Amino acid sequence: MAYKIIANNCTACGACEFECPNSAISMKNEVYAIDPTKCIECEGDFDEPQCASVCPVPGTCVPA
Ligand code: SF4
Ligand code: SF4
Repeated sequence: MAYKIIANNCTACGACEFECPNSAISMKNEVYAIDPTKCIECEGDFDEPQCASVCPVPGTCVPA
């Protein structure tokens, strides 16, 4: 399983990019995107998915 970013919701604020413990988030086509092959759902690193925790737009970083 992995998280994904709803592109239409993303304001490209960049808050999530450096919170990811596995460098799964990067900019793609003016917004941010999660590489599903790198997302580990923060397991072993944090209790909560960090992208979802820091994202200021509700419902943007969600389970894929
Ligand atoms: S859930 Fe965790 S590992 Fe997956 S993209 Fe978000 S911050 Fe990165
Ligand atoms: S924190 Fe949310 S709004 Fe900001 S870049 Fe990441 S997904 Fe987009």
